[in-house]
Amino acid sequence: MTIKTPPDLSNGAAWMGGRVIPIADAGVPVTDWGLTHADIAYDVVPVWHGGFFRLEDYLTRFIASLTALRMDVGMDRDAMRAALAEMVAASGLRQAYVAMVAARGRNPIPGDRDPRNCDNHFYAWVVPYVHVVPEEIAARGTHVWIGKSVRRIPQDSVNPRVKNYHWGDFTSALFEAKDAGYDTAMLLDHAGNVTEGPGFNVFALFGDRLVTADHGVLHGITRQTTLEMADSLGLKTETCALPLEELMQADEVFLSSSGGGVVPVTRVDDRVFSNGAPGPVAQRLRATYFDWMQQDRLRTPITYPA
Ligand SMILES: *Cc1c(COP(=O)(O)O)cnc(C)c1O
Repeated sequence: MTIKTPPDLSNGAAWMGGRVIPIADAGVPVTDWGLTHADIAYDVVPVWHGGFFRLEDYLTRFIASLTALRMDVGMDRDAMRAALAEMVAASGLRQAYVAMVAARGRNPIPGDRDPRNCDNHFYAWVVPYVHVVPEEIAARGTHVWIGKSVRRIPQDSVNPRVKNYHWGDFTSALFEAKDAGYDTAMLLDHAGNVTEGPGFNVFALFGDRLVTADHGVLHGITRQTTLEMADSLGLKTETCALPLEELMQADEVFLSSSGGGVVPVTRVDDRVFSNGAPGPVAQRLRATYFDWMQQDRLRTPITYPA
């Protein structure tokens, strides 16, 4: 007699076509426009101590992305929320990185270039929580390289407010950064303003005034949380263009991401910030972020199998 053991999902799981499967078994067809044309909208919501953080804000942004890309995945907000909850519960993961994805899908007519004919579809996947900057590097302050050979793809070419897979610019900058011994990279726009990096927004603090870019960037949910936290700590906040020369005059610089919260920056190219140690405001905001992640008003608890 053979007893069928359920698959181990602790390394990660995916929700595809209504089924939860091990992440290693998940894939998309080679002719999916998601793959052949990076024609994808996605979003990433963190799970912390068994609950989604700000889930409705992430769903709102994701659904706005689908509208912007004219995708219809045949699922409404409730169905997406249920799929995410089912998948994370099945994985048993209590600290997790949860991706929801809408892909353009396949065009049933071979060679047809009409995007309206594609079978848009939704899938999701979950892996153990990801820190976009490893925790030990966040603790000493991360070193950021400004991309030299590449600028952020213009906002009138690819809409940066739709979280997307067009990473060619970031990947080039990451090669430059790693080759030069830096941890990560951020990109300027064609006017020389600081935009964002691979998965994070950028903040600069001048006295008690906190600045982050208003355009040419994803409106990060962690960016929003950071603005709210700064407000609660009595800082003045401003969203406006942030020229590189201004950023270089800041008292502190830090990053924000759903993968790790607020991350202090101690170096941008060869400029050293706050004497090479994480700045006090960045550290305060980092601690506050992990505190807010546990606040009931911002959490959606997940019901795990017993
Ligand atoms: C995901 C992402 C961010 C950060 O957004 P959060 O919602 O805070 O995680 C910033 N920029 C880019 C390009 C991103 O992909």
